[in-house]
Amino acid sequence: MSAAPQQVTLLGATGSIGTQTLEVLALHPERYQVFALAAGSRWQQLAEQCLQWQPRYAVLADEQAALSLRNHLRAAGSHTEVLAGEDALAQVAAANEVDTVVAAIVGAAGVRPTLAAVRAGKRILLANKEALVVTGSLFMDAVRAYGAELIPVDSEHSAIFQCLPRGQAAPCGTPLAGVRRLLLTASGGPFRTWDAAQLRAATPAQAVRHPNWSMGPKISVDSATLMNKGLELIEACWLFAMPADRIDVVVHPQSVLHSMVEYEDGSVLAQLGTPDMKTPIACALAWPARIDSGARRLDFTALRGLDFEAPDEQRFPCLRLAREAMQAGGTATAVLNAANEVAVEAFLRQRLDFPGIAAVVAETLAHMSAPACSDVEAVLAVDDEARQIAVAQLMRRTSS
Ligand code: NAD
Ligand code: MG
Repeated sequence: MSAAPQQVTLLGATGSIGTQTLEVLALHPERYQVFALAAGSRWQQLAEQCLQWQPRYAVLADEQAALSLRNHLRAAGSHTEVLAGEDALAQVAAANEVDTVVAAIVGAAGVRPTLAAVRAGKRILLANKEALVVTGSLFMDAVRAYGAELIPVDSEHSAIFQCLPRGQAAPCGTPLAGVRRLLLTASGGPFRTWDAAQLRAATPAQAVRHPNWSMGPKISVDSATLMNKGLELIEACWLFAMPADRIDVVVHPQSVLHSMVEYEDGSVLAQLGTPDMKTPIACALAWPARIDSGARRLDFTALRGLDFEAPDEQRFPCLRLAREAMQAGGTATAVLNAANEVAVEAFLRQRLDFPGIAAVVAETLAHMSAPACSDVEAVLAVDDEARQIAVAQLMRRTSS
């Protein structure tokens, strides 16, 4: 290829998506160059990545950790410049030199840096679904206003994106002609067959042991509660301009079909592949071209059948809570997300039982008015308030 390499900023470089993105980039040194690597606080891991990739900038949200990284890289003779703090995350996401920003920070922490990339009109590869769930219409309005390009990395949304007619698929907020509904597939998570008593005793170690996908701790717990599918439903509403009642969830334990589009004529298009995030990452990086991802190929003769079932919203109420929040509008989805982040963190620290996650989210939603907001900072103030209410609900539960 004769074109200059694409300059990539990777937000969330040390995470599951971040490291898998680097694996794909490593297969295509002629196509991509790493401009900046950014993460939260794990400086040792970021140091190793910097020494291998020699980006122009490395950013850590945590100032102390950034100091350690700077000293370490200097001693190693690296020319990477180390920056710290949230403004620096936004700076490397919006820098003039950058073509592509991989948004792979976990949680609402990704809102400001991802939006900085949007406002700079970048090509954004969106893994950080929470950023879209929290800011919703404001995010999509900014994508359109600043001419940014939004390509989904989430495997289900990548599947839908690939099954839509090219051109119409660009997530630009226009309704999709000829599409009747979207079908989001869900693995059902590690507790798919567990009864209520087993769910009450579920541990963090059991929740993060996903049967098909290897992911960060927060999304693994979200998969176990089905909140991940709820967040993805909201994500799909925004990306594909579809109302929530035209998006169905179907449990498919083998994770071979990654989601489907049903057209008016009854045709259903699906995208298939092994459950490996390197496939949607490579698809997003090169779109509309296709490049090697390094993922294992699908062997149809080795498949022992494909199963489908309806999700059980009694045992997994988070999916229903997410759908209701989307339908309620305003900042209800920001409240849902904030309460979920607080509850998942408490569960991972063994301060809340597994069914408590859905309960804390429901109680927080019940305690808040979730008004519509016209700017992102106001939404983040609602997010903050929701976190405080969620913590109060947590304390009430643990003290009673
Ligand atoms: P992870 O926990 O493995 O990694 C999270 C990354 O975010 C790390 O690099 C961490 O340093 C960084 N980070 C955390 N807080 C930060 C902060 N305040 N400022 C800057 N950086 C911060 O998470 P993951 O599994 O890679 O998921 C990342 C995102 O991608 C999530 O939104 C998740 O829902 C989405 N996603 C993940 C997968 C998957 O397979 N892992 C699949 C689909 C979507
Ligand atoms: Mg997904």
